Amino acid sequence: MTVAADSEHTRIGVLGAGTMGAGIALAALYAGQEVTLTDVAPEALQRGREYIEAHLGRKGRTDALRQLQLSNDLHALAGCDVVIEAINEDLELKRSVFAELDRLCPPPAILASNTSTLSITAIAAATQAPGRVAGMHFFNPAPVMRLVEVARGAATAQATLDVLTRLAELMGKTPVVTLDTPGFIVNRVARPFYGEGLRLLAEQVASHEAIDLLVTLGGGFPMGPFELMDLIGLDVNLQAAESMYDSSYGEPRYRPQAIQRRYVERGRLGRKTGAGFYEYVDGERQWTAPEVPDRSQQSGFVLISDGSWGPEVGRLLVQAGYTLSETHGDLPLAAVIVNGREEGIRDVLRRYDRGLAPDIPILCQTVDIALSEVEQGTQHPQRLIGFDGLFFAAGRAVTLVTRPDLTDTIRQAAETLIRSLGKLPVWVSESPGLVLPRIVSCLANEAAFAVAEGVAAPEAVDLAMKLGANYPQGPLEWAANLTHGKVVAVLDHLANEYGEERYRVAPWLRNRARRGQ
Ligand code: NAD
Repeated sequence: MTVAADSEHTRIGVLGAGTMGAGIALAALYAGQEVTLTDVAPEALQRGREYIEAHLGRKGRTDALRQLQLSNDLHALAGCDVVIEAINEDLELKRSVFAELDRLCPPPAILASNTSTLSITAIAAATQAPGRVAGMHFFNPAPVMRLVEVARGAATAQATLDVLTRLAELMGKTPVVTLDTPGFIVNRVARPFYGEGLRLLAEQVASHEAIDLLVTLGGGFPMGPFELMDLIGLDVNLQAAESMYDSSYGEPRYRPQAIQRRYVERGRLGRKTGAGFYEYVDGERQWTAPEVPDRSQQSGFVLISDGSWGPEVGRLLVQAGYTLSETHGDLPLAAVIVNGREEGIRDVLRRYDRGLAPDIPILCQTVDIALSEVEQGTQHPQRLIGFDGLFFAAGRAVTLVTRPDLTDTIRQAAETLIRSLGKLPVWVSESPGLVLPRIVSCLANEAAFAVAEGVAAPEAVDLAMKLGANYPQGPLEWAANLTHGKVVAVLDHLANEYGEERYRVAPWLRNRARRGQ
């Protein structure tokens, strides 16, 4: 047997030939390894074989089939150096299978589980040698996704982690070692992406299409939460949410959302049932995203104040031909933009408000302050529009916050301004932290809690989220780029407005904000 961290050749056993097992076997074959794939269900094994043959065929790699052995009998795994279990997500089933593998594949063979939500420590306890048991969590589709989370159970030996880390690298993956905690890194840190998206929908802040637009065009995520939940399956996603909530004894950050259960109860499970949040016909999503306008050359003045929340807004306005001014006069104004921090916003508004023509919109950042609070600084609240000053510059879409008495003229004037900057205006209702600041701040907060609990180092958490969830930036580097102070301000604002423990700031994050890191 060649179980060594520096070995180039390993006999790999894969238990379970379903979605993940077949994918893992294929990834191992691509890497030139010898693979034994087993499944109790003959039809599953047959589907696994067809999947592997089709992919190797497409890549001109049918030679690798010689390295593949298929069996319906667990005993075929005897003699494997590493066994990766990818059977159904059921603790008792996995424990009984590990007890059997323990007898069948004696040390130094290594036993790994691809479980997403179960405890590696509990699975390992079913064996006589828990030191050789660890998590090896691949992402779907396994041959494509680069991340592998290698999870350290309470008794896992360092040598076991070294072998699995090396094996992941041999398979062209990037391994990240994580503690054996619910959701490991990716499935835990990603919770707010779905949870806050669902809450925004339930609170009628915006439609699922608008939230997805803001998250993708505004935040640079490859998919919005609703498109992604439709892809994963709403039932699968809800089960993950429930499992996180239960295993944490009711941590409020993980509380599942009733709106999701209602979709599941109606049988709208996403792509696989032809309907979830979106409708699908022949696998095609029945929705076309509006186009992002081109930047257009403008003239006119914009009164702009206090760019501390995002000084880049002024630069964008100048690029589009506007002239910035800090005083009123009789200038042909296009808009007033107040992009400051909470302190002083109302004073600024009072100053600008006087003598302003009635058709000029006042756009005020409402990331860490409520529109209803800002209003108190103006005599003309009906021309006040909130906006997301935090993601304004970087995004191709801009969040605008509407009020019930907003006039069409003001609405149009604001849209024209945003479109002339080459950005898509997306309207939402009033809500603490708006859409992107809320989602991204909650992701960073979750990542900070995970780091503080020793799940993984900050760099490892960021890397895992970029490779395992395709995030454009790691949540912690994102928080640093936005500045920790602003992220904490968003979370504090959420905590104040909702009075919920869900939004309490991770001390790890607040300390960084205080130190100005
Ligand atoms: P799946 O239902 O597609 O496949 C499971 C397979 O295991 C089935 O073919 C079944 O016949 C087989 N099986 C059941 N009991 C067995 C036994 N005793 N011996 C041998 N084979 C047995 O499931 P999946 O989506 O591939 O998930 C497998 C594991 O991977 C789960 O633990 C899951 O949590 C985890 N996982 C899934 C994903 C995903 O996106 N699907 C991603 C990461 C991890």
